[in-house]
Amino acid sequence: MTVHFPFQNTYTALPDGFFARVAPTPVAAPRLIKLNRPLAVRLGLDPDLLESPEGAEILSGKRLPDGAEPIAMAYAGHQFGHFVPQLGDGRAILLGEVMDIDGVRRDIQLKGSGPTPFSRRGDGRAALGPVLREYIVSEAMAALGIPTTRSLAAVITGESVMRETALPGAVLTRVASSHIRVGTFQYFAARGDTDGVRRLADHAIGRHYPKAAEAERPYHALLEGVIARQAELVARWLLVGFIHGVMNTDNTSISGETIDYGPCAFLDHYDPAAVFSSIDEQGRYAYANQPRIMLWNLTRLAECLLPLFADDKDKAIEQAQVILGEFPNQFTTAYQSGLRRKIGLFTSRDGDEALVQDLLDAMAKNQADFTLTFRRLGDAAEDEANDGDVRSLFADPAAYDEWAARWRQRLADEPQTPAERAGLMRTVNPAFIPRNHRIEAVIQAAVISDDYAPFEELVAVLAKPYEDQPAFADYANPPEPDQRVLQTFCGT
Ligand code: AMP
Ligand code: MG
Ligand code: MG
Repeated sequence: MTVHFPFQNTYTALPDGFFARVAPTPVAAPRLIKLNRPLAVRLGLDPDLLESPEGAEILSGKRLPDGAEPIAMAYAGHQFGHFVPQLGDGRAILLGEVMDIDGVRRDIQLKGSGPTPFSRRGDGRAALGPVLREYIVSEAMAALGIPTTRSLAAVITGESVMRETALPGAVLTRVASSHIRVGTFQYFAARGDTDGVRRLADHAIGRHYPKAAEAERPYHALLEGVIARQAELVARWLLVGFIHGVMNTDNTSISGETIDYGPCAFLDHYDPAAVFSSIDEQGRYAYANQPRIMLWNLTRLAECLLPLFADDKDKAIEQAQVILGEFPNQFTTAYQSGLRRKIGLFTSRDGDEALVQDLLDAMAKNQADFTLTFRRLGDAAEDEANDGDVRSLFADPAAYDEWAARWRQRLADEPQTPAERAGLMRTVNPAFIPRNHRIEAVIQAAVISDDYAPFEELVAVLAKPYEDQPAFADYANPPEPDQRVLQTFCGT
């Protein structure tokens, strides 16, 4: 029996230089750890077949499904500000594209399925820990309503990968609306291949920004579209306390999805300067730096598109600057309106920005947990008797009292009932985020004891982040001091 994937591939129709044809390297003994059944159904795939022994072979790269045209995509990128003209899929292989039940084209890619012509010194493999981490966090982001690549499956390979020690190897099946990155444009631009840039831009427009095709200036409209989506995305990250950790231009997608879950993390206590990634020594990708870095990355994209904008370079630069100039406003609008909702405001008026900022400042000063503060603020909005649950999160609880008095004055000017307000707040302030200490505990159980029950439970809780789930209340809690995770690792 062969598992049928309804592939409709388009990237392979692009010129040869866009990718290398390469098959996954078969692994010894693939075993399915997790299949995302609802996602499989959305992709038009049969979840029962994927859970069969053949399914594990396909999801590990041991067997190719009908119609697959496996490729590794070429791309370049700025890594921590330094340009590398050739990166490319060094351990990821795109099997092909399928249309999902909403009619959206989705890439199906195996990550960790063996070397490619872009592997450089890498082994093309992935370790179990990072695969579980990406599965958990990407699916949590999706449940939070934040654009992201998805995880269809995790398979262990039955082989070990050599890192600092030998670790169990694994393959993640990643699903994305495409894997085109800012770095993909940079790959062609760095080679002076304007025709390649144009082909890629046309492909990206057709796939992600079809309205741009009808615009007077389609390539300008493409840049506008990417900027609008990325401004919104980075605002969404900040509003849930997400730190991407490695915002290199090759990890910035053209579709506007969060991509590449390496050393990412969620804030526990609020700290705008928070950095978790072990490789981010300068704090380039710190929590509050993310909007600035996103604009820097989008500026690199704009540079690639200049030859398509106008023959006159100065004119092209001027046009790009006008479009890039929209980013700060778009980000701030999305971020500030999100913050207003987080404190339960239905309307906007002068002073709101300062009101929220004062709360954030008090949280930073008092080591208040980011997620719990906002979640419990919803309970406090419903009934002042719940204030105690918020104030206890502040090192100096009086800092909350002072702020809450001003907040209540502002709320009193709106007609909504406390229940309506709390209802709004519970739809924007999650109770459950993938906390670092939980992820680490799940990985330990899997890697050391081959026990996936904690992973299953965490994934299930995070699938409903805005529901209270009293039976799992402990998952909402920040780490005890001895459980705190101070660093996250790429763990390639
Ligand atoms: P990342 O830091 O995940 O964005 O990866 C940066 C580059 O390194 C990309 O070109 C990856 O394909 C490549 N890479 C990361 N890990 C490996 C590995 N184990 N084997 C081969 N290439 C890798
Ligand atoms: Mg990457
Ligand atoms: Mg990575």
